[in-house]
Amino acid sequence: MKFCALSTFAVYGWLRLKLNRSPALIILTYHRVLPECSVEREQEQPGMIISPRNLQHHIEFIRSLGAVPVHLDEWLLKNETGEPLPALSVAFTFDDGWRDNYLHAYPVLRQQQIPATIFLVTGMIGKAETFWPEQVIELLRRPGIQLNDPALDWIEPYLGSLRNSSKPLSLLEADEVINRLKSLDDATIIQHLKDTTSRLTTVIFSVEQAPAILQARELKEMSGANLIKYGAHTKNHFRLNRLNRVDSLEEQIAGCQVDLEEMEINSVPIFCYPNGDITDKGETLVSEHYQAACTTKTGWNLAGCDPYDLHRFNLHDGNSYSSRTLLATLGRGLL
Ligand SMILES: [Zn+2]
Repeated sequence: MKFCALSTFAVYGWLRLKLNRSPALIILTYHRVLPECSVEREQEQPGMIISPRNLQHHIEFIRSLGAVPVHLDEWLLKNETGEPLPALSVAFTFDDGWRDNYLHAYPVLRQQQIPATIFLVTGMIGKAETFWPEQVIELLRRPGIQLNDPALDWIEPYLGSLRNSSKPLSLLEADEVINRLKSLDDATIIQHLKDTTSRLTTVIFSVEQAPAILQARELKEMSGANLIKYGAHTKNHFRLNRLNRVDSLEEQIAGCQVDLEEMEINSVPIFCYPNGDITDKGETLVSEHYQAACTTKTGWNLAGCDPYDLHRFNLHDGNSYSSRTLLATLGRGLL
């Protein structure tokens, strides 16, 4: 963003937040929390990451604006019953249930006493696998990978001009491929990736990696202090608009609720749409099983808002690395 436009959005954001007279809730969305020096950054989409230092800065800055940190479910309950709400509230949310939330976000949240909601993909808990975009990055960036390997034929149409590349892709190039792959449904991509690993003719050195997703013990530990609560982000992170069968939709939406209840953690009846993709049938099922839903639409939520259409601000290092860029991102989302 150019300096001038950035300043204009930042001033606009500041004015909107300061001059607001009706109780409003800002929901901040994060995904992964990784230190600047983390090697895991080399295997992740840049728009998914914030550093713990930057997260701490967000907390301090948003508080300096007068926003009161709240539990999302508690704000929604007060909103429903008509109880008084602060002029400006802020709810911190983390999508997907990454293990780094425990390792790098939780210490900051605990130290600052910030309530937060983590939206879990319950079918991933306790498993060694990670999500398919991260598997694609790992595959396309492996040292020695040959993009013309027959095992990669399925991905070839999604490589675009990169198909002739003779070396592993850069992070941004892999990011492009991920976006193109989103035209396929999630289960198909996951199956292709499984088949690929066993068929690759290239010699690959597989490195034993620590689990990337939160483990049951970590969920319980964070649950204990009542600072962290858990919402639903489906069972397998399947995008709802790619599911044609009703029983598949039910498994992802209702199945996640059952899993959360069985885990005996601090769960809340709030759903979060993977990739923000919503369908009519999906929306109906969500309203039957949950009391609220987070979208990827941008903006704040005013008292009396529709709890099934919650707007959020997606934040990462790239769009909020300073007070000015954070304010500009909020301001642009409030236009
Ligand atoms: Zn997600």
